[in-house]
Amino acid sequence: MKIRIMGTAAAEGIPALWCDCERCRLARREGERRLRTSTLIDDRLLIDVSPDALTQSCASPAGFARVDDVIVTHPHEDHYAVGEMRWMRPPFSRTRDQRPPLRLHASDEALDLFRKTNGDMPDGLVTGHPVKPFEPFDAGGYAITPVLASHAKNILCMLYIISSGGRTIFYGTDSGLLPQATVDFLKRNPLKFDAALIECTNGVVQSDNMNHLGFNGLEQQKAILGECGCLTDRTKFVSIHFSHNGLPAAREAGDRFAEIGFILGCDGMEFSV
Ligand SMILES: [Zn+2]
Ligand SMILES: [Zn+2]
Ligand SMILES: [Zn+2]
Repeated sequence: MKIRIMGTAAAEGIPALWCDCERCRLARREGERRLRTSTLIDDRLLIDVSPDALTQSCASPAGFARVDDVIVTHPHEDHYAVGEMRWMRPPFSRTRDQRPPLRLHASDEALDLFRKTNGDMPDGLVTGHPVKPFEPFDAGGYAITPVLASHAKNILCMLYIISSGGRTIFYGTDSGLLPQATVDFLKRNPLKFDAALIECTNGVVQSDNMNHLGFNGLEQQKAILGECGCLTDRTKFVSIHFSHNGLPAAREAGDRFAEIGFILGCDGMEFSV
């Protein structure tokens, strides 16, 4: 699997949209740029539709032209800019209707939001596929296992385990520390992860790691996944979904993440497992 990280910021971006704090000023001076979090697998499977989808697609050689499956973690605006999917209609896209229908895999609430926002799309353009936690499904040949996150109590938030060609990745944003239901499920179904992408929204700010993870939460999440039997000596750890409130300056951040065995994710970063 080829993984391309399209964006690595929390909702407000880095530098943040309306902010002139010291961290954002540093980011502006140094040209650091982090757009809202989304990831593309093999140019075919998109995880979350960021409000920066157009900019991100322009930065990617293949863009989204070959995406046939979209999986949605949760309907927060920074992960599900559902209105951007309207541009699949002809004549906005002149080729999308020549491909198989795009399969949108998301919670019932997120699928409802798609209909409310985009109305009835032309037949055969998009098909909705409800996702429920712990019920594996197929997305264009990828075996996907959704598990529950500990994030935003009033909406269903999921994390995804994605397998293809004997390789497996864990996509963990926005996660908080894994809830007991997910731990129990993983212990019963210990898939081995070749890579784990894990959020670090709170950065160095101390938190209880319950809605979003901070720096110390990364190590705890790693330990939990280890106890569930999901890690190997070769599992690659990449951190994503950062905020200007907690991410140290880029130079320092890379070293700090490396000390705990994580790679600091960056926009446009690509790697294969
Ligand atoms: Zn988020
Ligand atoms: Zn700021
Ligand atoms: Zn969220």
